Amino acid sequence: MTNLPESVLDIAKSVRAGNCTATEVLQRSLDRIDTAQPTLGAFENIRAETAVTMAASVDTAITNGQDPGPLAGVPIAIKDCIATEGEPMTCGSRILEGYVSPFDATVIERLKDAGAVLLGRTRCDEFAMGSSTEHCASGPVANPWSTDHVPGGSSGGSAAAVAASLVPASIGTDTGGSIRQPAALCGITGFKPSQGRVPRYGQVSFAPSMDQIGPFTRTAADAAAIMDVIAGEDARDATSASDPLGDVQLDTHLNGLRIGIAREHLSDDNHPEVNDAVARAAETAASLGADIVDVSLSTTELGIACYYVIGPAEASSNLARFDGVRYGNRATDSSSLNDMYERSRTEGFGEEVRRRIMLGTWVLSAGYYDAYYNQALKVRRLIHDEFAQCFASVDLLLGPTTASPAFKLGEMADPMSMYLCDRYTVTANIAGICGCSIPFGTTQTDGVTLPIGVQLLGPVLGDATVLRCAHAMQTATDHHTSRPPNYSTV
Ligand code: GLN
Repeated sequence: MTNLPESVLDIAKSVRAGNCTATEVLQRSLDRIDTAQPTLGAFENIRAETAVTMAASVDTAITNGQDPGPLAGVPIAIKDCIATEGEPMTCGSRILEGYVSPFDATVIERLKDAGAVLLGRTRCDEFAMGSSTEHCASGPVANPWSTDHVPGGSSGGSAAAVAASLVPASIGTDTGGSIRQPAALCGITGFKPSQGRVPRYGQVSFAPSMDQIGPFTRTAADAAAIMDVIAGEDARDATSASDPLGDVQLDTHLNGLRIGIAREHLSDDNHPEVNDAVARAAETAASLGADIVDVSLSTTELGIACYYVIGPAEASSNLARFDGVRYGNRATDSSSLNDMYERSRTEGFGEEVRRRIMLGTWVLSAGYYDAYYNQALKVRRLIHDEFAQCFASVDLLLGPTTASPAFKLGEMADPMSMYLCDRYTVTANIAGICGCSIPFGTTQTDGVTLPIGVQLLGPVLGDATVLRCAHAMQTATDHHTSRPPNYSTV
C-alpha cells in the first residue's frame, strides 16, 4: 500500500490500468482522515460506507473489462453546500439540521459517472459566507500548516483536506474568493471557473450571479482533469455556458502569451513576501516565454463595496426559503406563523448570515434600491468593462491571491477586516471571469511556515488558457510539491 499514487491523474491512470484498486486508494484516504480529523476538523461528515460501495463498483468494472471513467477511483471530498442524494447537507448552518438532499447536483452526477469516489463532505462557513471557516455551526477548521491559523474560507474544509493529503481533490464554491483564497492560505491549487462554466444546479445559492463551483487539487494538471469532467452545459442551469471548455492541452512553455500585472494589485499594504512571490512568478512566466506587461485596474478598489451590496442582495432573496417550513430546523413553541418564521430564522442562522440578510434586504428596499443596488450594478459594469479592456491587450493577469498569508483563528474579529481579505479575488466574480490560485513559496512568521499563493486571471471562458499557464509554471517550479510539516511524509 505504500506505493499508491497520490495525484488525481496518477490514481485514475493506475486504477484504470489495474495497477492498484479504488478500494486500496479509498482505504488510504479514510485512514488519513481518521488520524487528521480530530486536529483539523476538515470534514462535516465522512461517508465511509457509501464510499466503500462506490470504490467496489469501480473495481468490479475494471475486473469486468469496463472503463469506469476518467476519474476512476479518485477519492473526492465535497463542500457541504452541494447536494448529494441521500446525504445530509448543512451548509455549515443550524437551520439545515436534519436536512437530507433528495437529489444529486449536476457536478455530483458528473463526478459519479466519471468513476470518482465521493467519501465525505467538508466544513464551510455558513452558507459560504466568510473567509476563515470559523463561521461553521459544527466548528472551525484548522490550517494543516499551523493549527493556530485559519485555512481561509469559505471552502476551508475542502482546502485543508487536500493540503493535508487526505484526498487528492475536493470541490468548493467561489462567490468572492472562496476557492482561491483558501487554496492560497493552504498552499494548494484552487480554480474558480468562468461564470457559467460549471453548472450550479444542486449548489445551494448564495449569490447566483457570482457563484461558481470549482476544484481544489495539488496541481493545475489535476484541476484540469476535474474541470474536464464537471464543466459543460446543463439544461437545468439556464446560465450554464454552451461553449466547450476546449483543449486544456498542458503545454510547458508560454511563448507568445502576454501577461499583465496590475499595479493596483501590488499595494504597499500587501505583506512584502506576497509581492515578492508575484515578482518571482512573473520571472518564471517570462523564463517560459511570456511577455510581462504593466497594466492598470483602477476599479480594484471598488470591488469590496460593490460585492457587499450585490452579494447580500442576492443572498437575502435566496435565503428567504429557509423559513422553518420547507427545510431543516423549525422553532417550537411559536405563537403564530410569523412568530415561527422569525424564531426559526433567528435560531437557525448565525450572526454573519443574519448580517448579510439585513444588509441585502436594506439595499433592495424601496428608497435605497437606486442608491445602493442599482449603483452597485453600475459599478459592476465598470469593473467588467475594465477587465474586458485589459484582456483586449493581454491574455492573462498575474497578481497576489491575498494580501497576506493565513491569520490566526479568532484574530480577525471585525467583519470589515474579514471582508477585505478578498480584495483581490471578488472582482473576478463580479465580472464573471476565471481565476486560479497556485502556491508560490512560503513565509516564516514567529517560527511558523505559511504558504503564499499567486493568482492568474483569465477572460470570460478563458479557463483553458489559465489552466495551461498555471501548469507550465508548475512544471518549471516545485512550490506545489511543498507539504505542511506535519503532513509531509507522503
Ligand atoms: N469571503 C467572501 C464572503 O464572505 C467570499 C465567499 C465566497 O466566495 N463564497 O462573502
